[in-house]
Amino acid sequence: MRKCYFCKGKIEEKYVTVDYRWGDSLTVIEKVPAGVCEQCGERYYDAKIAREMEQIALSSQPKPERYLTVPVQEFQLSVA
Ligand SMILES: [Zn+2]
Repeated sequence: MRKCYFCKGKIEEKYVTVDYRWGDSLTVIEKVPAGVCEQCGERYYDAKIAREMEQIALSSQPKPERYLTVPVQEFQLSVA
């Protein structure tokens, strides 16, 4: 069984949604197989999976399933 590099927690195989950034563009990739740490939530991707995500993010094919509109906000400390 694989253990988390950071907290030694148990890693579970799951399908996750990845916000994949490449420069200014952001692609949300769903149903990505990943190992997820039960304790800290750290994600681990196989090299093959990481390469595939890059391909998906960089190419316009296949066509996106759908588009999301995301708000972009600047972080600000609220005055106490
Ligand atoms: Zn962990």
